[in-house]
Amino acid sequence: MDTLIVGAGFAGATTARLLAEAGERVLVIDKRPHIAGNAHDRRDAAGLLVHSYGPHIFHTNSEKVFAFLSRFTAWRPYEHRVLAVPDARTGRAYPMPINRTTINRLYGLNLDAAGTADFLERVREPRSTIRTSEDVVLNSVGRDLCEKFFRGYTRKQWGLDLSELAGGVAARIPTRTNDDDRYFTDRFQAMPAEGYTRLFERLLDHPGITVQTATAYEEVGTQIDRRRTVFSGPIDAYYGHRYGRLPYRSLRFEHEHLARCEQYQPVGTVNYPNDHAYTRITEFKHLTGESHHGTSIVREYPTTEGEPYYPIPNSANEALFKRYQALADVETEVFFIGRLAQYRYYNMDQVVAAAMALAERLSPNHCPRSQD
Ligand code: FAD
Ligand code: UDP
Repeated sequence: MDTLIVGAGFAGATTARLLAEAGERVLVIDKRPHIAGNAHDRRDAAGLLVHSYGPHIFHTNSEKVFAFLSRFTAWRPYEHRVLAVPDARTGRAYPMPINRTTINRLYGLNLDAAGTADFLERVREPRSTIRTSEDVVLNSVGRDLCEKFFRGYTRKQWGLDLSELAGGVAARIPTRTNDDDRYFTDRFQAMPAEGYTRLFERLLDHPGITVQTATAYEEVGTQIDRRRTVFSGPIDAYYGHRYGRLPYRSLRFEHEHLARCEQYQPVGTVNYPNDHAYTRITEFKHLTGESHHGTSIVREYPTTEGEPYYPIPNSANEALFKRYQALADVETEVFFIGRLAQYRYYNMDQVVAAAMALAERLSPNHCPRSQD
């Protein structure tokens, strides 16, 4: 083997493909019994395509990433829409991200875009320095909208207050003065036509690639003869947690098929910021476009224990990560890539872009420049 790749998610599979195309022999292992990492999807008992680890909507502004993945899948155009229900007793739902409709419906107003901008200017609490997610939200929409839509959701999702999280977390959600109710505004927004797992099957289908699932690095790492390792699991686990555990947030997914319900909710995802133990419900038919007399949904329950899904961005965790990164920086034959290994709140396209850059750097045809 030239390269052992730990993890068959977007980070590992993209790196594997590109190294194999550059002429290497690559072994990809994953401790789970399947490929595709957290993007894994499957057919449930009713035959509907569902995402095993919560809703995954593909969106990117990178033509390069989109072109690369398009080699392995056709696409179904899809623009995700989300509603938020701040009070489950009334059940009234509002567009999320907050836009003109959200404000008019919530406060019984009839503002145009300029009026919405004036409204937000009046209610926002300007901050001279934006450090935390609380700063981000108060600075853009003020206290009432923060309490109704952000504080409770964030507390549930992360087990932390908005003020304990880096600004980048809440900054993922824009504020709009127009009626655009799409969750994302990226240039490319689409779902793999036959699902993510099928995309990964094609991505990993190369004579230079061998895949072994249900295989943990801890079990086989020392037995595999290779020149180098690409690791996409949690970086602190690789180093035996020697500086302590990096916090990751986990989720429990409750999948349900509703046999007598053709449509459960009007949009792909409904968020429940202030009620219930779950944060949101996603109905997969919106994402996949499938027809069926029943429908399949998933509820997400955030937890501390369990599989690591999210790095938790704040300054204390970043400082601990930096200590692990210093160990990684002096490695010459081990490379860390992906959401868990780089401890970055990456979307799928960002992971693919990072893996493409790594594969290019490792490729035998690469011309090293001084900044590499
Ligand atoms: P992963 O997919 O986690 O892959 C890492 C793999 O390494 C795993 O399969 C794991 O089993 C394996 N592994 C770890 N340790 C070991 C070991 N010791 N030995 C062997 N194998 C090991 N992104 C979007 O762009 N759009 C979305 O809508 C979106 N929604 C999301 C919703 C949820 C609930 C979650 C959790 C994430 C979402 N993401 C979304 C982010 C997306 O899942 C990630 O960006 C992407 O899947 C990360 O790819 P990765 O390869 O870095 O990590
Ligand atoms: N968020 C919120 N209310 C919402 C949606 C998002 O407070 O209705 C905050 C929350 O802290 C969340 C973060 O914004 O974790 C990022 O949301 P996103 O939908 O991007 O999360 P993901 O899909 O990655 O779980």
